[in-house]
Amino acid sequence: MAALMERPIPIQPETLERLRQAVRLLDQLHTFALPAGPELPRESLEAGRDAIARLQSPEIAQEIFEIAGEHRRGRPVTRRHVAAAALEAKQQNPSLTRLELAQKFCPCDKARHNADCAERLRRDMQRLNALIRRILRDYPA
Ligand SMILES: [Zn+2]
Repeated sequence: MAALMERPIPIQPETLERLRQAVRLLDQLHTFALPAGPELPRESLEAGRDAIARLQSPEIAQEIFEIAGEHRRGRPVTRRHVAAAALEAKQQNPSLTRLELAQKFCPCDKARHNADCAERLRRDMQRLNALIRRILRDYPA
């Protein structure tokens, strides 16, 4: 460890850009991994964050605050986490229709999911699939 620190590795700008790109891709992948959490009003989230900050640390409080539904950028992601499960189901059983997938995986609270649910899920599955392909292409095992 000490030897490593004495001899810093020269980092080329291209390497740095590649690392940034990898982090961006992982960040996108991450949006498919976590349920967005309950949609609490901002005041409740802030009150919770402040309470946690007193008990823990402001960093942990901020992290929980963000996971709990406050996303740093872009529109709130409230349903992407089901895309991976739907994609897996479709791979295992290609005969499943969009609507069947929506019945099984759509996270909205309708009793019967409709064509809009199916279309949203299809788009999320497509985005996730494209992202996985891109990662596999740019970072082959
Ligand atoms: Zn639905």
